[in-house]
Amino acid sequence: MDSVGVAAAAPDAGQGPAWQSKCPWGAPSTTSISCSLADVMSEQLAKELQLEEENAAFPEVVAAAEGPFITGENIDTSSDLMLAQMLQMEFDREYDAQLRREEKKINGDSKVSISFENYRKVHPYDSDSSEDEVDWQDTRHDPYRADKPTTTPRRGFIGKGKDITTKHDEVVCGRKNTARMENFAPEFQVGDGIGMDLKLSNQVFNALKQHAYSEERRSARLHEKKEHSTAEKAVDPKTRLLLYKMVNSGMLETITGCISTGKESVVFHAYGGNATEDKVIPPECAIKVFKTTLNEFKNRDKYIKDDYRFKDRFSKLNPRKIIRMWAEKEMHNLTRMQNAGIPCPQVVILKKHVLVMSFIGQDQVPAPKLKDVTLSSEDMKKAYYQILNMMQQLYRECNLVHADLSEYNMLWHDGKVWLIDVSQSVEPTHPHGLEFLFRDCRNVSQFFQKGGVAEALNERELFNAVSGLNITADNEVDFQAEIEALEKMNEDHVQNHGKKLSTFSSDGDPPIYDE
Ligand code: ADP
Ligand code: MN
Repeated sequence: MDSVGVAAAAPDAGQGPAWQSKCPWGAPSTTSISCSLADVMSEQLAKELQLEEENAAFPEVVAAAEGPFITGENIDTSSDLMLAQMLQMEFDREYDAQLRREEKKINGDSKVSISFENYRKVHPYDSDSSEDEVDWQDTRHDPYRADKPTTTPRRGFIGKGKDITTKHDEVVCGRKNTARMENFAPEFQVGDGIGMDLKLSNQVFNALKQHAYSEERRSARLHEKKEHSTAEKAVDPKTRLLLYKMVNSGMLETITGCISTGKESVVFHAYGGNATEDKVIPPECAIKVFKTTLNEFKNRDKYIKDDYRFKDRFSKLNPRKIIRMWAEKEMHNLTRMQNAGIPCPQVVILKKHVLVMSFIGQDQVPAPKLKDVTLSSEDMKKAYYQILNMMQQLYRECNLVHADLSEYNMLWHDGKVWLIDVSQSVEPTHPHGLEFLFRDCRNVSQFFQKGGVAEALNERELFNAVSGLNITADNEVDFQAEIEALEKMNEDHVQNHGKKLSTFSSDGDPPIYDE
């Protein structure tokens, strides 16, 4: 840390006479006997001097502080935001401590205990547990950084900053603290404290400093781990252990290699081993390992984006649990599909974030994706009708919308289409379920129309055919507007009645719930 200018006074806690020699406000006393014009001049001079000194001392940081969200009217909000957040964190910690006391009191030494874990406000990440940090390596920027600009509503503090700015003389120390704050690591967003003439008390400054330091250290640690994991490429040690155990137990014969490395998952091929008590293991298996980056990807999920409250809930969820949740979701969805007779991988076992299923393909060669295979026009037509049928089954019998249906997630095997990749699939009454369905329909319809299937319905016809709804709009914009109106109607229903409409479809079949 380079201590220049006012920052040099730091060791004296900034209050001793050390700063006076450097402080521009010391200057007026030497000219105080001159005439009134000089008085005015000196004040101006002092202002200029101060500006000069500050600019000289922290030129880059001031420039750096012009972050994407510290512009115009918001010029003074960033530091206040950080202060507010830190205070909030302090408050949340106290809240959690109280929760723990209550938990202890209620449980006493009873054998059965209850846990308030899910009600805690401070994520383990913030309370310095190292256990969970690995999972955050790729995700921490999302909830804590990218969304920061949108969290400004705690305006109570902002006014305060503005109030202080007018009185110059008594608060030099505070201003210095603000200046020193600029010496925190460059990626530590401190805002334009100098520009707004913010003064920090020593206490607040020290708290911020501490926070900045631990942030820096954490960042370094995470960076290290990230590099490590890229080197490992496929899976982390804990996952490897899980896979070893599967082979060791005899459930799998061998894991032969990696079929696919996607953004969200790594898929391996394995030969099945011995059947266990109640399980027949397919001769060839696909192992889908959900990656930590899944969080990053799924956080951009529309649902989350639209639900501001998610941030709070998210902070209470263990990131590892979130990853498992997606694996679990894929398992449940595959099971529903299996029960409806839709060609898809059969679930073998789910262990944490690792899903073992039957392999679609043969002799280690996975079935080609629909986008990679050249079908005869006959097969193309056959595939189209099969998919139309499967989409209807999925919607009506499984109460699901695939939500990522395209030629990338359909495999051609054994003369028919197999659906895969259903971790993101949702029920039609999901706040954006129908929009997802419409997107699916567009993908399917475009693929087959381009592929020369004359009978292929257009996206709107396909949507109606799948959902059983009768949206009559003859252009995409109106159609989509009607879809959104339906979704809104459902959301209103949720608001008013506390539960979803059972289904959008008019065929009266009760939806299937598996949980
Ligand atoms: P992602 O979310 O990464 O797209 P997918 O479930 O689509 O995950 O799997 C990625 C790729 O792995 C697929 O495109 C497919 O080639 C292969 N794959 C996945 N599951 C299986 C399976 N059960 N049998 C054969 N190949 C599979
Ligand atoms: Mn996929």
